[in-house]
Amino acid sequence: MIASAKPRTSPRCRSSKKLEQRAECHRRVAEWSYRLLGRSPDHVPAFIGGMAMVPELFEANRQGFGRNVIDYFNDLKLRDLFACYLVLTPQGSRDPKMYKDTGTINPALAVVSEDSEGIVVSGLKLLGTSAVFSDEAWIGSMIPLGPDQINEAVTFAIPVNHPGVEIWVRESFELRAPNKIDHFFSSQFDESDGVMVFDNVRIPWSRVFCHRDIALMRDMYFKTPAHVMGNHQSNWRFAEKLKLMVGIAHRACDMAGVINIPAIQQTLGRLAAAEASLLGLMAAQIDQLQSIANGHVHVNRRFLYAALQWCANNYAQVAEEVRSLMGAGPFLLPADPSVFDNPQTRQTFEKYWSLPTASADERYKFVKMAWDLLGSDFAGRHTQYEKFYGGPPHIMDLYSFFNCPWNERRAAVDQIVKEMGSADDLTARRKSAAE
Ligand SMILES: Cc1cc2nc3c(=O)[nH]c(=O)nc-3n(C[C@H](O)[C@H](O)[C@H](O)COP(=O)(O)OP(=O)(O)OC[C@H]3O[C@@H](n4cnc5c(N)ncnc54)[C@H](O)[C@@H]3O)c2cc1C
Repeated sequence: MIASAKPRTSPRCRSSKKLEQRAECHRRVAEWSYRLLGRSPDHVPAFIGGMAMVPELFEANRQGFGRNVIDYFNDLKLRDLFACYLVLTPQGSRDPKMYKDTGTINPALAVVSEDSEGIVVSGLKLLGTSAVFSDEAWIGSMIPLGPDQINEAVTFAIPVNHPGVEIWVRESFELRAPNKIDHFFSSQFDESDGVMVFDNVRIPWSRVFCHRDIALMRDMYFKTPAHVMGNHQSNWRFAEKLKLMVGIAHRACDMAGVINIPAIQQTLGRLAAAEASLLGLMAAQIDQLQSIANGHVHVNRRFLYAALQWCANNYAQVAEEVRSLMGAGPFLLPADPSVFDNPQTRQTFEKYWSLPTASADERYKFVKMAWDLLGSDFAGRHTQYEKFYGGPPHIMDLYSFFNCPWNERRAAVDQIVKEMGSADDLTARRKSAAE
């Protein structure tokens, strides 16, 4: 289903109509995948499309790198390739002092040699969500690097089956999901996460986008529309997931027969308000679009980062709230759907588990589906994903800090203080009030 839906995004984004089309593409891909594929095939190309809007940034590092970015974007588009990205250096490599002082090896991927054909790299990169399902991997770093990490300052792309590349994956939830009724999501939508190990891997220059340029390593995400266009997909996927969770909350209360209790309606109202607020931020991202010098447009940075911050910091609480509304529901059901196979157990189940608002089998399917989304091991991974996929939560606050027009905000405050007059004015006013 997803494979046939790989979107064909274009970096030539010059109108709000184009942005609207992109948004609808992200929204539909999210809907088709039950909102569970964070790194769906429209995620990484949206980043690279944003970079391809500013090729001159890459040209400044080395002649031809700007062309490489555009060619790579077109290659993904024309060959309909699915790309993942690994832009995190391993824990243990981030502070060079740590491995130097302890004498341990720095595990981070670094360039070990170069020649006229390209570069050779060795080391680890994380974290490749969807890597095992991808055709291609984009390798870089969003974490700032220091001057003594110059050999780690490299960004390139390779097919995931390139000689010398290994993907070390975590345990699959799908393997522990024996049937699609009890594990509707985890049996089908475990997108997997993996670390990539590179052992003297040769990369041709045509697939290198940054080499020995510490500033460009991050600027390619933040001084181009890459980070905002990529995370626009993340926002849509989250918004669609939130709609699903709100629907689950309502159905759970309906089944439990508590839907008419005012306190329950307040809780549902809070969830509905949160969903509407997020959708408002999504609309504002396009309504208040921004443009760059060469005429390309991108989504509004402030509204994008406000949405990203909200999503990263509130998912766990929303999931907890919806889970609470399910009460003991998930633990009142038989172990597996074999209850329907035996006429006697089926009859008993249908007799005692049917509700005024749901038949016994509807109840079984709904509760198992909701628990798979909100209470299972698979759900735990989603809670972690929603918190960290865009970087650690404190970074989410900083994106908004860096993109707020502080001067404008301060101007209004300074104006009021000025209107209040000088110290002499204050004294004069106090004196006349006392007389
Ligand atoms: C399920 C999942 C999927 C992911 N998919 C991808 C992917 O597809 N591609 C990719 O490149 N990356 C991916 N990531 C990685 C993600 O980018 C990182 O998890 C994130 O950047 C945090 O880095 P870290 O995990 O190394 O945590 P660390 O940086 O080691 O942080 C550990 C803890 O310390 C806190 N912390 C660290 N520094 C500070 C500070 N200065 N102030 C306050 N608190 C701090 C963090 O918030 C966190 O709680 C994924 C992560 C998860 C969990």
